[in-house]
Amino acid sequence: MKILVMGPPGAGKGSQSAKIMEHYDIPSISTGQMFRDAYNNNEKIGIEAMKYIENGNLVSDEITNEIVRLRLNKEDTLDSFILDGYPRTVAQAEALDDMLEERGTKLDAVINILSSHDVLFERMEKRRVCKDCGATYHLKFKPPVKEGVCDVCGGELYQRQDDTFESVKRRLEIYEDKTKPLLDYYEKKGTLYQVNGMQSFDNVYKDIVLVLEDLS
Ligand code: AMP
Repeated sequence: MKILVMGPPGAGKGSQSAKIMEHYDIPSISTGQMFRDAYNNNEKIGIEAMKYIENGNLVSDEITNEIVRLRLNKEDTLDSFILDGYPRTVAQAEALDDMLEERGTKLDAVINILSSHDVLFERMEKRRVCKDCGATYHLKFKPPVKEGVCDVCGGELYQRQDDTFESVKRRLEIYEDKTKPLLDYYEKKGTLYQVNGMQSFDNVYKDIVLVLEDLS
């Protein structure tokens, strides 16, 4: 199963991908998380990427494609993976197609989580992420059992630097401009499935599972 989970920032791509990963036991490839990990580990690529991220900009296609290429070269992604937040531009989608073609394969499904801008602003303002394992929470819809502490690993929860109002506004503009055209790109390929993201986390997940079960 090779799938891509798409949607505007704050639509729940990361949390839904984490649940799919756990349920189906397949690796999730999140470019945003890989950049944040690299930054927290003081790696050059992470420091470079954070210059774009903290202003709400997209990291360059060159850096992003490279980090994905390295990840797809690892054996655990040969049969199955979930892409979360990549590709985000048509140029990245074309680069991904080339990478997969080199491996004699292609994406099975692209799942787009639909959401309105109002809902997205509320989600991102209240989003918290674990410093250690990257698990995501929402202070209202998916709060941790103990305030400020990750349920999964006990790590400290923090608010992402790019979850401020101005940054979110900019990310949504960029999404409309650069990422939304990908919906057409995948619609034409016949691999696009739409899921309503403006419902509870569990119901969004159920709708995603319906799509995935239909594939097999
Ligand atoms: P995410 O965790 O998916 O919301 O990503 C956080 C930030 O990382 C984004 O706002 C971008 O600045 C950067 N980023 C993640 N994935 C990509 C990508 N595919 N292309 C460019 N920038 C990305």
